[in-house]
Amino acid sequence: MFKPLNLNEQNSNNPEKITDIEKIRCLIIGSGPAGYTAAIYTARANLNPVMYEGLQPGGQLTTTTEVENFPGYPEGVTGPVLMEDLKKQAQRFGTDIRWGIATKVDFSGSVHKVWIDEKKLIEAETVIIATGATAKYLGLEDEKKYAGGGVSACATCDGFFYRGKDVAVVGGGDTAAEEAIYLAGLAKKVYLIVRRDQLRASKVMAERVTRTPNIEVLWKHQTKGLFGNGVVEGAVLLKNKGEANEEEVKIKIDGFFLAIGHKPNSDFVKDYIDTDEVGYIKTIPGTSKTNVPGIFACGDVQDPVYRQAVTAAGSGCMAAIDTERYLSEKN
Ligand code: NAP
Repeated sequence: MFKPLNLNEQNSNNPEKITDIEKIRCLIIGSGPAGYTAAIYTARANLNPVMYEGLQPGGQLTTTTEVENFPGYPEGVTGPVLMEDLKKQAQRFGTDIRWGIATKVDFSGSVHKVWIDEKKLIEAETVIIATGATAKYLGLEDEKKYAGGGVSACATCDGFFYRGKDVAVVGGGDTAAEEAIYLAGLAKKVYLIVRRDQLRASKVMAERVTRTPNIEVLWKHQTKGLFGNGVVEGAVLLKNKGEANEEEVKIKIDGFFLAIGHKPNSDFVKDYIDTDEVGYIKTIPGTSKTNVPGIFACGDVQDPVYRQAVTAAGSGCMAAIDTERYLSEKN
C-alpha cells in the first residue's frame, strides 16, 4: 500500500554521531517530474547531481493511470511509464539516483547540510527541493482504525483488491474523478461522495464520471464514520449536513478511497525555508529561489495553483538553471 511521504517523522536523533559525510555540488530531493527534470538539466550542465528518490520513487504520478495531457505523448501514457522514461533520461546524463529519505536539514551555513535516513550527511553547495505533496485524509479516527483494512488514498495501488466489490471515493476534484473511473473498471459499484452539489473536476473528467454507469454520485454528502468488523464494511454519511433536512445515510462498501487533495512535503525544511500557511514553499516570483541562497524549490511542494506534471517539469528546469547560475556566480 502507498505510504504517505512524511519526512518529518524520521528526524535524526543523533546527527553528531554520523561519520559518513559526502560533499557534493548539487543535491536533488524528490523524484517526481520536477526532480527528474532538474536532474536532466543539472546533469547536462556537469553539476554531477545526486538525487534521493524519497518514499515514493517517481512521485505521485506513479499512482496515476492514464496521463493524456503531458506534451509529447499523442496517445497518452501511463504515469509509471512516464516516470520511468524521465528516470532513464536523467540517468543517461549521469544523475546519481539513490534510494533514501532526507530526514533533517541545517541550512544555517554556507554549506547546506542534509541528513539521509539518519545514516549519512550530505554537504551540498546547492539543494533542489522537489518533494511534492502527500494525499490528505479527512481526519476521522476510523481512517486510522481501518488503515490497511479498506482505507486507501491510492486507487491504482489498492484498487485490485476490490474487484467485483463496492467502494466509495471521497472528493470532487480531478483526482477523485480519475480514481472513481479507474475503480469503476474493477469494482461492481463506486459511490463518489461529494460534499457540494457540483464537482470541482474539469468538464471532461466530470462528463466521464456521469457517463460511467456503475458510478453513483452522492451529492452533498459528508463522511461521518466507517464501520465493520476489523475491515471496512460500510460508511455512515451525512446528507445535507448542517441543514434542516440533514439525514444520516449508510452505504455498504468494502473500500474507502480518499481523493481530497494534497499537503506539500515541506515540514522537514520549515525551520529554515519560508512557506505559506498551508506549507507551500515560497519562491521569489518568476524563479525557483527560496529565502536561503543556494536552496531552490520546484514542483508541487511550491505550487498551490497549477500542480500539473508539465508545470512541475517546467519548474524543475527553472530550478536547474537557477542552480547552475548560482554556482557559476559563486565560483
Ligand atoms: P482539488 O482540485 O483540490 O480537489 C479536492 C476535492 O476534494 C474538492 O472537490 C474538495 O471539495 C474535496 N474536499 C477537500 N476537503 C474535503 C473534505 N474535508 N471533505 C470532503 N471533500 C473534501 O484536488 P485534486 O483533485 O487532488 O487535484 C489537484 C490538482 O491536480 C488540480 O489542479 C487538478 O486539476 C490536478 N489533477 C489533474 C489530473 C489530470 O489532468 N488528469 C488528475 C488529477 C489531478 P470542494 O470542491 O467542495 O472544495
